[in-house]
Order: sequence, then C-alpha cells, then structure tokens
Amino acid sequence: MWGSNCPTTPSSDPPGVVPLHRSSRRQFLRTAGLAAGALGVGFAGPASALGALDSAGTDRAALLAGEPLRMARVWLTRETAHLADGLDDTHRSFGDGSYEFLLWPGDLGRLVQTGLRFEITVDDVVARDRARTESSAVRTVGLQPGETETGEYRRLDDYNADMAALAADNPGLVKLIELPYKSLEERTVYGLEICTDVDRNDGRPVFYNDGVHHAREWPAGEVPIMWAHDLVESYRADEAGEADAAQKRIANLVRKVRNVIVPIVNVDGFHFSREFPVEAGTHQVGVSIPVLGGNSATAAGNGFGQYWRKNRRQLTDGGIAREQNAPDGLTAYGVDPNRNYSYQWGGSGSSNSETSGTYRGEAPFSEPESRNVQWIHQTYQCLTEITHHTSGDLVLWAWGDTAADAPDDVLLARLGIASTFYNGYQPTKSIDLYVTTGTCSDYTYGTWASISYTFEHAGDSFHPGYGTTVPAMYAKNREALTLLAEVVCLEPIDRGLLRDEVAANGGLRDALQGDFSRVIEGRQYEYSTSQVVDLDARYHCVLSGRMVDSDGNPVAGTVQMEKDFQNFLWFLGGGQNPIDTSHWPEAGLWSIDVEDDGTFRWYVNPSSRPAYFDDPTFNAEEQYQVSFRTGGGPSAGQSKVVASRDVVLRRGQTIDFGDIVVG
Ligand SMILES: [Zn+2]
Repeated sequence: MWGSNCPTTPSSDPPGVVPLHRSSRRQFLRTAGLAAGALGVGFAGPASALGALDSAGTDRAALLAGEPLRMARVWLTRETAHLADGLDDTHRSFGDGSYEFLLWPGDLGRLVQTGLRFEITVDDVVARDRARTESSAVRTVGLQPGETETGEYRRLDDYNADMAALAADNPGLVKLIELPYKSLEERTVYGLEICTDVDRNDGRPVFYNDGVHHAREWPAGEVPIMWAHDLVESYRADEAGEADAAQKRIANLVRKVRNVIVPIVNVDGFHFSREFPVEAGTHQVGVSIPVLGGNSATAAGNGFGQYWRKNRRQLTDGGIAREQNAPDGLTAYGVDPNRNYSYQWGGSGSSNSETSGTYRGEAPFSEPESRNVQWIHQTYQCLTEITHHTSGDLVLWAWGDTAADAPDDVLLARLGIASTFYNGYQPTKSIDLYVTTGTCSDYTYGTWASISYTFEHAGDSFHPGYGTTVPAMYAKNREALTLLAEVVCLEPIDRGLLRDEVAANGGLRDALQGDFSRVIEGRQYEYSTSQVVDLDARYHCVLSGRMVDSDGNPVAGTVQMEKDFQNFLWFLGGGQNPIDTSHWPEAGLWSIDVEDDGTFRWYVNPSSRPAYFDDPTFNAEEQYQVSFRTGGGPSAGQSKVVASRDVVLRRGQTIDFGDIVVG
C-alpha cells in the first residue's frame, strides 16, 4: 500500500475529489501553502484530529487486552475527511463516499468518538488471513514461473538464494548485482541484471522493477522475482523452439532490453514482518509495551508484527535511543522509504512525525532503501519501470503531488490503462487517490523522466494466502510488464509481436489508440485518436556514433554521459518543508563501452526533467554532457577525454554523432 495516514491532510481535499484540475504546479503549491497557513495546522502530524483524541492509557489497555486488528468501512465527506487522519487506510474506496481502513488496537474507540458513520467489515484481520492461508491450496491458474515449491511466500534468505542461483546457473544471461548501501541492520541488498550477453556494458534500453518498499507487502516482492524467473525460462523456451506467444514476447525483451530487478528494497522491514511469529498476530500479548511521549499505538507507525510497514530505523525519544529489536517489535518506529525521495520531498501526504506511518525521515535520502534506488537511476538509464506494492489492485502514475497533467500524460495514462487490459486493476493518476510527496514513482519520473508506475497488487490484503494470491496475480501481470517494456524500450522495428497482440485484442487497441473516454476516481479521462500510443514511434532517445582513429579504424573506448542539477523539494523552499533548503543536489553518471567495430547505440531518457514543461521556474532546457574516452573506463581513473558534446534530448529524439575521430 502506498499511502497511510491518508486519505487526507487538513489542507487537502477528500479522496476522489480533484483539488485543482489542470492548474499549474506553481499555482497549486501556492494554494496548498495558503490553505495550510489559514488552518494553522501541520501536515498529517500528531496534531491531526485522531491524534488529539489519543489516550495512551486506552491504547495500552487495548493492546494488552489483545484487541484484534479490524477492518472498517468509514464514510467521509470533504468536511469530515480530516477526522480520519491517523487511521491506516488500505487504498480501497467504494464509490459511495466510504473508504476502507485498518483499525489498530485503540482505533475503534477513537473512531467512535469522531462520530463518523462506519461499519466493521472484518472482525479479526489476522484470523481471516490465517484462515485464507490454510485454505489456499485451491488453485485457479497453472504453475507460474518462479513459484515457490513450499507454496509459501519467500523469506529474505530465499530471495537471496534464488538470485544467487539464477546468476550461477545462467552465466552470460543473469548477473547478480550488489547495491552500494547496506541496510540499517547491515544486510546487503541484491538485485539482478538479465539480458543476453549480460556482462557486455552496452547501451541497451533498461527496464527496472523493484518491490517491497513497505515491509508487510509480501506479494510485491514475488512479482519481480517471478519476473526474473520468467525472463530466463521464456528465453530458454524460445531458444528451444518451445515458446508460446507470451514467452516469445518476453524472450524478445531478454535479447533487446537490460532487465534490472531489485525484489526487496526494504530488506530489514521485510525480514522483520516475514519472520514475525504468526501465532503472535499483530503483536505479542503479555509483554511490556512502551507508549512513549504520549503517542498512541496507531501513531507508532501504522503496523506491528507481520503488518509492519516502514524500515527499521531506530529513532530517539528525547535523546534516548529506543531499543530497535525489542521483542514486542514496537520500538523501532521507522521511516517510510516511499516518502523519503527528494522530488517534492517534505510536503502533503507525508509526515514529519516519526510515529506516523508515512514519516518521511529527517532529510531526503536519509535512508539506505531510497539511496539504493537512487543509485540505480544514477547508474542505469532506466527508461521505464514499476515499483510494486500491495494492496488495492491499482495501476498509478504521475503526479502524486499535483492534479496537473504530466507532460507525458497521454503516454503515461494510455499505457497505464492498457496494462490493466491484462491485470484488470483500476488505472488512476495517483493524486486522485490522495496527495503524496517524496515517493519513488514521482522521483523516478520527475527527476529522470523514466516512464514510471506504481502497481498495487493483492486485492484487499497486504499479504493474503500465497496459493490463492500469488500464482494468479503473477499470471495476469506478466504481460502488463511486457507491454510497458515493449512500448517504451523497444525500437518500432522490434515491436512485431506487440503489433500482432494489439491487432488481436480490441480492448488493448482501444486503450492505446482508440477514442477513449472514462471517469475514474472523479477525473474525466478523454483521449482522441490523435493522442495515441503509436507503435511506429519511439518513446525514448537514442545516441549513436562510431569512435575511429584518423585512418578510420575502430577505437576501443567508452561513452560517458553526465548531468548535475538541483532537485526541487516541496514548496520551492518554503511552507511545510522542514529543512532550510529549497533544493537537493542530484547527479547522474552513466557509461557504456563501444562495440568492437567502434560503434555504439545508447538508449537514454530525455535530458530535461518533465517538470520543465509546466513549471516556470525551469527557464532552460537541461543538457547532458556527453564525453568520448579512451584508455579504459572512467572509473579506472585512466581515461582520456578525446571529445565532448553538450546535448539536449527530447522524448523520441535521436542524435547520430557520426564518426568521432580520436586524434
Ligand atoms: Zn506500499
């Protein structure tokens, strides 16, 4: 799940209501700031309505009494939405003004006090999930790639063993990568690269998938690891002449696209959640539960035990370090990794309260989880990507912080909608659920122009029974993943299989190219047949050329691309941003080797950030600095720059440098 302590903050509108449709980003920010000032309250902090009703004694009693984790449907209006601040929402809305929330021990009493209309829909979520797990032998689909033999969710060790085995068993096809930042509990975070001739450092387009920013969202790790297995199995099947239609499309991606996968971003949180004893439910009964600083159990991070959400950041209370690994699991308050990215960091839909489920951390990239994902983007030119979460069955795209259309709105929306042709999820611009800032998807799109999506899987639970959930979930998502890479990464000439697929499926064709008109979460989506995803167009940029000596013979060398800039934090330095700066330094440094014949072909993102097009504070298109080097890679420190160029690239543009003559 993406949000928590949402759907609203005191200064924003209720979910489903578009605050300022198609207004400029700048205007929206100004308006948001004025509204916050007028109300004189903080954003989703402890001063929210439910927080004001907190009673440490009641929470403690509720916890010690073993009050169960409940699920409720709560009816909200624009005027009353703020009363639900502090409740743990599940993303689910019912179209009649009601929304679904998890009720942690103590929440029910507070909900009653708000006077809001509600009904309890699940009396004991843990018991329900346990019952589902026990009855989850029922299958609705055939065996899927990478399914576990145990019929249970992978543990952290299983993920690491799986990745190591995939690399060891498939040399030249699968490469294990070690991300640079160890977790807070000193764990190494691993990922994979999968493509033919994987060790060659070439310029192939990159498709990135990650999972489990949020600890309790176990299916969100299964999708990317199963995708890794699927890439390998589909390629092997195709090589053997045994591939079916879907496998042929996936095998095509193995040849043309570098697939980068990080299944578990938040390794500490996932390990804590996954290993928490199921019989203990959401918490261990009978142990001492510290209620610090008057914070309620709910406020202590929206989730304990298997329902832990954030990372395992140890925070201090009045300068006294809290015990991070206390057996009750309540004392590591954690940071929400999916509110810790720099782009628009510090605003609505995230909290400056460390006890909030959406606590954003003390600064952008204060956490190793977001730093690792940042590193991926500073190192790989990811052209399109999905960050996987649960729950809600949603496909979400930019923006989360403003109702304005993104510059790539037609592509983002049509492709997002087309992906739901396969998985049946609800496609939605993310702000139409509620405001978010500092998220992964808005960072990767807003900062690097990568066509980015958040997928929310698994229906109405963060980790329902494996057997009834994971195989069917993967079966309906694999072609959605395939579609994204085919459209954004591939050359038009390589889309033959996709053309066949589109020709055979009217629903897919309509989503990509037809007259489209539909109301989703209160927003009218309307695209004409002149605003299409054109299978003859390219949705990335290409740099090409050849490095030669003065006699025209090929030269071994590298092509390097750099970009340094300042990312905007929330409110351009004022308002709710708690740190005293309006910008955050950002830099990318990418490098490829030329082929033996001196040529290169490099698939990259546009050089300007998307916000350039609708934000008047961007006053010039941004450039990449491209340099051509000989004498070894730049990291070896022995490279010699033989030529350099500054280039501006817009989406779809190609630049052929021709022969770069090395003197
Ligand atoms: Zn999530």
